[in-house]
Amino acid sequence: MKSTMQDRPLTVAALLEHGRRVHATSTISTFDGTDVRRATFREVAERAERLAAALRRLGVRPGDRVGTFSWNTQEHMEAYLAVPSMGAVLHTLNIRLFPEQLVYIVNHAEDRVVLVDSSLVPLFAKIRPELRTVEHVVVMGKEDASPLGEVLAYEALLATEKLGYAWPDLDERDAAAMCYTSGTTGNPKGVVYSHRSTFLHSFGVTSGACYSLSDRDRVLLIVPMFHANAWGLPYAAWMVGSDLVMVERHLQAEPLCRLIARERPTFSGAVPTIWADVFRHGETTPIDLSSFRMIVCGGSAVPRVLMERFQERYGVRIIQAWGMTETSPLGAIALPPDGADPSEEMAWRSKTGRVCAGVELRIVDDQGEELPWDGDSVGEIQVRGPWITGSYYGDDSGEKFDRGWLRTGDVGNVDDRGFVQITDRAKDVIKSGGEWISSVELENEIMAHPDVVEAAVIGVPDDRWQERPLACVVLRPGAAADPEAMKSFLESRVARWWVPERWSFVAEVPKTSVGKFDKKVLRARLAEGALEIRS
Ligand code: ADP
Repeated sequence: MKSTMQDRPLTVAALLEHGRRVHATSTISTFDGTDVRRATFREVAERAERLAAALRRLGVRPGDRVGTFSWNTQEHMEAYLAVPSMGAVLHTLNIRLFPEQLVYIVNHAEDRVVLVDSSLVPLFAKIRPELRTVEHVVVMGKEDASPLGEVLAYEALLATEKLGYAWPDLDERDAAAMCYTSGTTGNPKGVVYSHRSTFLHSFGVTSGACYSLSDRDRVLLIVPMFHANAWGLPYAAWMVGSDLVMVERHLQAEPLCRLIARERPTFSGAVPTIWADVFRHGETTPIDLSSFRMIVCGGSAVPRVLMERFQERYGVRIIQAWGMTETSPLGAIALPPDGADPSEEMAWRSKTGRVCAGVELRIVDDQGEELPWDGDSVGEIQVRGPWITGSYYGDDSGEKFDRGWLRTGDVGNVDDRGFVQITDRAKDVIKSGGEWISSVELENEIMAHPDVVEAAVIGVPDDRWQERPLACVVLRPGAAADPEAMKSFLESRVARWWVPERWSFVAEVPKTSVGKFDKKVLRARLAEGALEIRS
């Protein structure tokens, strides 16, 4: 028996029209480091319509890729809305990748037009000569665009267009946007989101089981719009009418805290390193975080001590989430279950997250056997669902997929209530004398030491145990580099055989383009003999 329900397509254009009509007075504010400029959803929707008309006039057809090379700004949001709604494909470019990677990505995706923030013109000019398919570069903002030669000005393009662009009818399964993985593991791979996946993911993340977003919220968008769709926040906020506050290029703790005090956001999302910087800033300067009801944090394991410090000092709830570019990105979020004892709140929040409705998850061992959800059995995490990618763009190797499931490359366990605990990335696991040591957990415990700013643990070859952990630690200024003190601190916190014998005190832990610990670089430094090891 078929249902009697209508089959209206789930499209970005439908999202756009909903936000425009129902939340016309919600606002998008963009920070310039001193002031903010504001526009209503109605104004932004109208400008998105003019942008679509302008792109159409430039020859952009359905299915064509339109790249963005920009910070979080109102104009970037206009592109988020306009490009998919006209049937073209929004391709967010990670401005922090190496030039060769960017060239590879733009050529691989065959972008025809790129929208570039004017402050990034010098960076974009470096790769421009090697972009084979880009016909037009459109510059957003006022700074000097001359290093790029001939470009189009965004505002001038919009000014020549009239309102009334008719959005085409689209198939909800068509491509809406694409994003390449940030390449922690090898060459970047392209993930292509559909209209349907984008719409469903927006419903998922706004729900009470995830971010609980509504028009009462003001979302401070720190996570870049080129990093896994800014975790779904732009479309989610637009769908429910949350105000958006865009940080532009002002991601350092000092301007961020000024913006927070001024705009009083209720919600935000960023990787742990950003919040660690904010906390350190607050140790020397008074800061006001009282407007937040929740901060979502992820992209890498969130140190428990970070959540504890925010809770104790500011009463701010940092909630950990897990996801990947491949998963739109939300897959799991660590909201404690109802009825959890208050004394266990932090234990729940320290887990990686509870799997979201819409995402199916399983744990698989080396032989491909599915393991039980017993909170103990450890294997590779695999997921499937309507907002999980089923392949990579222009790549049919299939090695990241297992009979319809995405192999995440993350290793961990899951309990009977669906709480996932990631212990490592598959390529970062440390096997000592045949037993696993979780680098994630070890880092967590080392970072709990009051003198430690950051800690990353990698495996090093060992004659007796095959492999042992090496702890690379950044200390607070003035703190003594004392391996013995570190070891005795750890002894009461982890199994004795986990305690690293080898320590390296470093000035900083290298980071990837999206702010994660870059263990590939650490391993290379170790191989070059550039890490001084003490024991
Ligand atoms: P890349 O794969 O290039 O680093 P992504 O941003 O897509 O880019 O990274 C996804 C990966 O980030 C996940 O597979 C996982 O290893 C890691 N990750 C994300 N959130 C968490 C978390 N809460 N805890 C541990 N690891 C996380």
